[in-house]
Amino acid sequence: MAATVRTRYAPSPTGYIHIGNLRSALYEYLIARVHQGKFVLRIEDTDQERLVEGAVEVIYRTLALCGMHHDEGPDVGGPYAPYVQSERLHTYRPYAELLVKKGHAYYCFCTKERLDGLRAESDTKNLAFQYDRHCLSLSQGEIDSRLTAGDPHVIRQKMPKEGTTTFHDSVYGDITVENAGLEDQILLKSDSFPTYNFANVVDDHLMDITHVVRGSEYLSSAPKYNLLYEAFGWEVPTYVHLPLIVKPDGSKISKRKGDATFEDLLRDGFLVGAVLNCIALLGWSPDTNQEIFSLSDLEKIFSIDRISKSPSAFDMAKLRWFNAEYIRALSPEAFHQMALPWLKGAVKPGLPLEPISRILQPRIEVLSDIPGKIGFLSQLEDYSLDIYVHKKMKTTLENSLVNLSAALPVLESLTEWTVQCIHDSLMALVTDCGIKNGQILWPIRTALSGWEVTPGGAMEIADILGKNESLRRIRIGIDRLSAAIGQ
Ligand code: GLU
Repeated sequence: MAATVRTRYAPSPTGYIHIGNLRSALYEYLIARVHQGKFVLRIEDTDQERLVEGAVEVIYRTLALCGMHHDEGPDVGGPYAPYVQSERLHTYRPYAELLVKKGHAYYCFCTKERLDGLRAESDTKNLAFQYDRHCLSLSQGEIDSRLTAGDPHVIRQKMPKEGTTTFHDSVYGDITVENAGLEDQILLKSDSFPTYNFANVVDDHLMDITHVVRGSEYLSSAPKYNLLYEAFGWEVPTYVHLPLIVKPDGSKISKRKGDATFEDLLRDGFLVGAVLNCIALLGWSPDTNQEIFSLSDLEKIFSIDRISKSPSAFDMAKLRWFNAEYIRALSPEAFHQMALPWLKGAVKPGLPLEPISRILQPRIEVLSDIPGKIGFLSQLEDYSLDIYVHKKMKTTLENSLVNLSAALPVLESLTEWTVQCIHDSLMALVTDCGIKNGQILWPIRTALSGWEVTPGGAMEIADILGKNESLRRIRIGIDRLSAAIGQ
C-alpha cells in the first residue's frame, strides 16, 4: 500500500448529487486533507444505461463550489489516468481472466431466458434469487469451444460456499458473513463492461487507494470485495462505511420522493458553507460543542474515529438554522450580492434595494424566504384593522388614530427623509405627547405595511418606501380607522 493516504470520490454520473453522496465526498476529502494525502476523483460510468448528459459537469461544479479541490481526476489529470471507468475498459477483462485462471471466477454462458426462469422459480418459492452455478460444471473443452465461437458470456466470481468471510470496517468493526449467502456475482458483463462491484476493486487497487469511504448501503457487498482482494493477493484498503442518512421520522431520503439534492438546496437559497457544515455533522461529531465549522476548520480536526454508526437524521429545520447563522455572519455587502437575484424579482422597480437587504439579513433563514417577507413593500394590500390593536404595545383603534393623525403633519414637514430624521421627529413627538414609543411606532408600521410581522421597523420601512408613498399609506390608515371608529 502506498505510504500516502489516498482517498477517492467515485460518483456515478447521475446528473445530481444527493446529500449522502456529498457527505461521502466531503469525508473522503477531509480524510485526505487531515493526513496530507491525495483526494482523487474517479467517474464510475460503467452503467451505460444510466448515463445522463452533463452529469460529469455537475460533479466538477459541485466539488469546485464546495472548495473540495481534487488532486487527481479526469479534468486535472494525474499519474493514475485515465480516471473515467469507461476509458479504462481494456483494464478489466485481463483481471477478470486472471481470476478465472486462479480458480476464483468462471465463464457463464447462461441466457437471459434461463436466468429469468430461475428468477421466476425463486419468486414462486419466495426465495432470494441466487445463480445456480450451472456454468461452473462446464468442461474446459466446452468453455473453450464456446469462447472460440464467440458465444455471449459473462464472468462470475466464484464464491466459497462454506465457512465465513470476515472483514474489518473502521466504523462498524469486524463484520463476518456466511459464505453460503454470497452470490456468484457478475464481474464482467457480456458487453465486456465491468460491473461496479468489480471495477471499484480493480481501480481502487490500481490507483493505490488507501481508504475506501462510502455509504453503509455498500456494507453487505464488502465481503465480496474482500474476497476479490484476497483472490488477487492484493492488500485490502481501510474501509470506512458511513451511517445511513434518514429523515427525522426515520424514513429514507430519496430524490424520487422529492427530497432535495445539493443543487436543489442551492437553488432554494441555501448557502454552500451552511449545507457543508450541516452535512459534515451527519455521522461525525467533534469532541467539543462547537457547531459552526468552515471547510478549513474541518480539514484540521476531522477524524475517522469520531464517525458514528447510528443513522443520522438530516433535518431541514436544522439546515435552516445553520443557514441563518451563515447569513448573519456575512458582511452586509456580501449578503446584498446574494440577495440581489431574489430581490429583483420580488420588488417593484424604483425601491432602493440595499436598505431592503439590510432589514432582511437578520430576519431570514434561507434566501428563498425573501419574496415572502417583502411583498408589502411593492403593494399595500387590504388589511384587517385588528392589527392596530396590540396589548403589549398598548395600542387601540382609538389611540392609533390619534397618534397616526399626530404623526402625519410631523412627517409631512420633514425636508430630509432618512431613518435618522424620521426617528428624531417621531421620538420628539413621543416626548411631546407623553406616550410610549410603541404607541406611535406600532400604528405607523401597521399603516405602512398592513402586515402584522415585517422585517424592519416603522422607520426603516418608511425610509424604503420613500416620503410620498409612506404618507399616502398613513393617510389610508387614518381614513380607514376614522371610518371604523365613526361607525
Ligand atoms: N459509484 C458508486 C456510487 O456512486 C461509488 C460507491 C463507492 O464509493 O464505492 O454510489
